[in-house]
Amino acid sequence: MADENSIKEALKSVKYPGFSRDIVSFGLVQEVAVEGKTARVNLSLTTGNPKIPTEIKQAVESTLSALDGIEDVECNIAVQAPKGATSAASGQQSAVKLPGIRRIIAVASGKGGVGKSTVATNLACAISQELSEKGSDGRVALLDCDIYGPSIPQMMGLHVRPEIENEKIIPPENFGIKVMSMALLVDADAPVVWRGPMINNAISQFAQHVNWGEIDTLVVDLPPGTGDAQLSLVQTFPVDAALIVTTPQKVAVDVTRRGARMFEKVSVPIIGICENMSYLEAPDGSRQHIFGEGGGLLTSKDLNAPLLAQIPLDSDVREGGDRGLPITISYPDSTAAKAFREMARSVMVRLESNNPMG
Ligand code: ADP
Repeated sequence: MADENSIKEALKSVKYPGFSRDIVSFGLVQEVAVEGKTARVNLSLTTGNPKIPTEIKQAVESTLSALDGIEDVECNIAVQAPKGATSAASGQQSAVKLPGIRRIIAVASGKGGVGKSTVATNLACAISQELSEKGSDGRVALLDCDIYGPSIPQMMGLHVRPEIENEKIIPPENFGIKVMSMALLVDADAPVVWRGPMINNAISQFAQHVNWGEIDTLVVDLPPGTGDAQLSLVQTFPVDAALIVTTPQKVAVDVTRRGARMFEKVSVPIIGICENMSYLEAPDGSRQHIFGEGGGLLTSKDLNAPLLAQIPLDSDVREGGDRGLPITISYPDSTAAKAFREMARSVMVRLESNNPMG
């Protein structure tokens, strides 16, 4: 006969639509009870797509009614819209409305220096290339929230002060991608003494005052780390999914895991893992694992999210960052650029199959 434990166990086989993770590990299950032959399940989730709760409800009902001794399933789902979400860190901050933006993907890492901004930049370029190759006129934008080291404008080759029109900031663009960063608004020499809440306020303020136009995908480069500042940024914007950047060292996995828990708390699905600086390709094609091996795969298993890319260590990647010419643009046929393109394709497919923004 089914009891609460076997019901919880069975719920672990119900996947979040479009993702390989289940609804239990996402933390959606609030309450489970059995009364006679009736199983009662209360779920809570954040989505703007009405199809998601319907699909989850159907899957829960068919999974549980197959259990021994269960004839009736009552599945209640409390749905919160992502745009109305409140911040757990501040307790009251509302999500910023970004009209015209179809979906948002956040790029995050447990610690700095793993290549998060490099990945965010090349992901944005690669998604834009994919869209135009498909004949879509969908646009991509890149928002730099890494206030401690805002490097996106540099990596995108942008050094202009944005124009202001009708009290809105016009994001400058390069390679067809609109870019916004505090680095474009403040002096490069100004000390960055802001901390958590001030950063979030500043970012939500300036993000709201940007005239983005119609954007298919906004890539958000989060500050490194797993603290309140990151948590509340994720809630400041209606983020659809998060991409986690890590390096091959096994020691990186712990830090990354903490970061991932942060997304769980706010029910933002992890779309996948990008392992950066994975190997160095020798002229004979052999691979040297300078920073060790296996971190990406271990993280992927640990978080139950796919390893979407292994980006090689390549001096052209670094030079591209320094010169403001991302490798996806300058050397599209390089191994690194191809890996970024492949990752962009997977991200797009996974975002589309979930399509939480409806
Ligand atoms: P983070 O945003 O995580 O702090 P960055 O993207 O700023 O990291 O990258 C740190 C440094 O490493 C930069 O100089 C960048 O050009 C370089 N870098 C990142 N990824 C690679 C790579 N795959 N190969 C070579 N250099 C890289």
